Amino acid sequence: MNRNDFPQLQDGVIYLDNAATTFKPKCVIERINDFYVHENANIYRGLYDLSVKATAQYDEARQTVAKFINAEPEEIIFTSGTTDGINKFTQMINAKDKIVASDITGHHSNLLPWRKNAKEFKYIPSRKDGSSMGPDNSFVVNDFIDIAAMSMYSNVFGNTKSFDDAYGRPEPRVIFFADAAQAIAHKKIDVKTFRDNPLALAFSGHKIFGPTGIGVLYISKKIHDQLSPAQFGGEMVEDVREQDFDLAPIPQRFEAGTPNIAGAIGLAEAIRYFSAHQNEFFTHEKKLAAYAHRILSEIEGLKIISVTYDPIISFTIDSVHPHDVAQYLAVHNICVRAGYHCAQVGLDYLGIGPVTRISLAPYNTFEEIDKTVEVLKNIRKDMYV
Ligand code: PLP
Repeated sequence: MNRNDFPQLQDGVIYLDNAATTFKPKCVIERINDFYVHENANIYRGLYDLSVKATAQYDEARQTVAKFINAEPEEIIFTSGTTDGINKFTQMINAKDKIVASDITGHHSNLLPWRKNAKEFKYIPSRKDGSSMGPDNSFVVNDFIDIAAMSMYSNVFGNTKSFDDAYGRPEPRVIFFADAAQAIAHKKIDVKTFRDNPLALAFSGHKIFGPTGIGVLYISKKIHDQLSPAQFGGEMVEDVREQDFDLAPIPQRFEAGTPNIAGAIGLAEAIRYFSAHQNEFFTHEKKLAAYAHRILSEIEGLKIISVTYDPIISFTIDSVHPHDVAQYLAVHNICVRAGYHCAQVGLDYLGIGPVTRISLAPYNTFEEIDKTVEVLKNIRKDMYV
């Protein structure tokens, strides 16, 4: 990993809040800049060269995303992010007629849209380590569930495997919805491996070195005939008459209005950068995570709540509030996140409450972990505990 690829790292900050958002590589920043300086035009409308080229770039971005998760381009819908994708999908699939189950430790973005829009909503219970009680426990994604909306990778516990576990034995008609907001940066995702059940999946560009304001909603072709548009307007129709209209083909049908063109092009650049280094990134992250777990757990009073050696490491420190931990680290120019991490239902259900979270990216170093641990070792003394 060449840290020089990331201009913001040169500012000297120790950035360990990558689950919130990642820093951006130079190639992504330059690609977006180039688009606005030389290539800006609206798409699918103009007959002039600039518009034709912008359209081609946008279409190419869709193909790049599709290839990244082994999907077809018409299965890729650009959104503004994971939250937007989930909200849209609840409407597109007509959740008000569906019984939906979602893991209790999930992100609010994968709970609230379902809770608000489903005919009936059920929580999939969780073990103490954050993994869902799938097949080997009481909850089974079976015939009375229409949609299992699972987190592929928890933003608090790391890779709980709940998604893979639950996938083991569902009724073939159950639709699996994957919140892949975190998984996209830490797991290889191949949608073709979900052979029997239809899958839909959402992620955000900004968690994988892309810009904010762009996301992806993948929807398997197997359920395209069950979908209706969540939004109406320009670009999603072919022919509009006074009383009725004909819908455009998918995916345009589900992208009403001018999309985030520069965002999609920037995301494609981020994915090219990420894909070119993916194996190296995962290997480094794994080693770094194992090291961080080991030396963090040696700190007196510190308890790590995630059991797997993942780059998302949430912990508590006896007698010190997580906000004080984050504030103390901030004074030392170390960025972490503290609180409920938009997963309050699960953290309260498990009796854990708020936690501090370190989340690693491939550009983080062993030295940064050492420095963080060195600072944390003094926290209880400095806070007069
Ligand atoms: N789901 C999970 C697991 C997340 O970690 C996040 C963001 O942190 C989201 C959903 C929402 O992502 P966004 O805020 O980009 O829409």
